[in-house]
Amino acid sequence: MTHNGRTGRRALVVGLGIAGIATALRLRQVGWEPVLVERAAGRRSGGYFIMLFGTGVASARRLGVLDAIGDRSAANLTMHEVDRAGRRRPGMSPAALPGRPRQLLRGDIEQGLFAALPDDVEIRYRTVPDAIVQDDAGVDVTLRDTATGAAVTERFDLVVGADGMRSTVRALAFGPQEYLHPLNYMIAATVLDEPVEGFARHEGLVLAEPGRSVWTFPFADHAPGLLFSYRTADIDAEFARPPVASVRAAFGPEPAGPLLESLLRRFEQAPEFLFDSVHQVRMPRWHRGRVVLMGDAAWCLTLYSGMGASSGIAGGELLGTMLQRHGDDLPAALDAWEARMRPFIGHQQDTILSMRRLFTPDDRREQLLRTGMLRLMRAPGIGRAMSKIMAKDMQAKNLDVAAA
Ligand SMILES: Cc1cc2nc3c(=O)[nH]c(=O)nc-3n(C[C@H](O)[C@H](O)[C@H](O)COP(=O)(O)OP(=O)(O)OC[C@H]3O[C@@H](n4cnc5c(N)ncnc54)[C@H](O)[C@@H]3O)c2cc1C
Repeated sequence: MTHNGRTGRRALVVGLGIAGIATALRLRQVGWEPVLVERAAGRRSGGYFIMLFGTGVASARRLGVLDAIGDRSAANLTMHEVDRAGRRRPGMSPAALPGRPRQLLRGDIEQGLFAALPDDVEIRYRTVPDAIVQDDAGVDVTLRDTATGAAVTERFDLVVGADGMRSTVRALAFGPQEYLHPLNYMIAATVLDEPVEGFARHEGLVLAEPGRSVWTFPFADHAPGLLFSYRTADIDAEFARPPVASVRAAFGPEPAGPLLESLLRRFEQAPEFLFDSVHQVRMPRWHRGRVVLMGDAAWCLTLYSGMGASSGIAGGELLGTMLQRHGDDLPAALDAWEARMRPFIGHQQDTILSMRRLFTPDDRREQLLRTGMLRLMRAPGIGRAMSKIMAKDMQAKNLDVAAA
């Protein structure tokens, strides 16, 4: 350490999402000099509905950003299972989940983290890495300004690839092997500007049919998040037409009925939305030499796990802790970081299939199982036993993996 508490070491952090900002913040806290590069022209806002579980809450608290991230959880949050005819049955509320995850917008988390970054942290927008070459003493990264085309090669002590599911850092540093595994599902998500007609602000809905589902997630102080999720046999075909056409095709050919039709229209009219295929990232190792992957770039848990944001924050926090603990021994720090994160992430990855079934049943059989499970959970006695089983599984979502 130098006299001002700085280590004099520079890290390049690629990607200004939750994982990248959390990592840069933590690195700066432990005396590193992070440089953030982001492909987009500026920071995004809004996003979609996110649940922040105990893992993320614990790390956000230690990073000093929990209050700034806030909490939009609706009091008395109620979920309704609905059908196309508008019939309603009681559903399972996220508020009833062990640990009571916080209901947030993705932008709330990014903004809370971003606001805590000291002003002297350098951020370069419209900038992407084109080449990564490392030796024992450092990493040379060629960075290109996408606006001007100008490229510059700079040396860093560490490179963090937090550039999402389709990571460029992963391709440059880990080779051409395919680490992205399609689930053969698509998602379309947005945030509404008004509550759904016929539903109070604190009420959400789920319409789950074989191979497709639509959800609205309520907030205390904002109109709900809207999410379509559906199975596909041909991901390329889904991207070949306008998103709303793909979503409509997935929910056809049966008549939509008034409720589903209104949700489809609301999606069609949304000024901002996300439409994407769902993939897991599975890798035998997340670091190679002085390059380490973080968040979706390393382990994309998909929306079904509900742990992408939490694990990105915790992963970033823990990396800083390990770098601090191991001083000049970078390989030891990265090994220790990966050894702690891997069992935790492995467990989350193993539960994605059962979580996906809960979100969107694949076929009639899964739909019946899902309906049966929801009924059992409401039955006195059995419901309590089921909750206990779930609580065990949920413990992993609330594990403080980055605790010192
Ligand atoms: C609909 C939906 C619901 C979700 N719900 C939840 C939930 O309830 N709970 C939860 O914990 N998680 C949830 N998730 C997952 C969570 O949102 C993600 O795991 C998390 O936001 C990923 O953050 P990240 O920083 O790793 O990646 P990203 O958010 O993908 O950020 C990557 C950043 O890198 C930039 N970038 C990409 N390529 C380059 C490049 N070559 N050079 C420079 N910059 C680049 C991108 O522009 C972006 O800013 C949900 C996801 C979706 C889609």
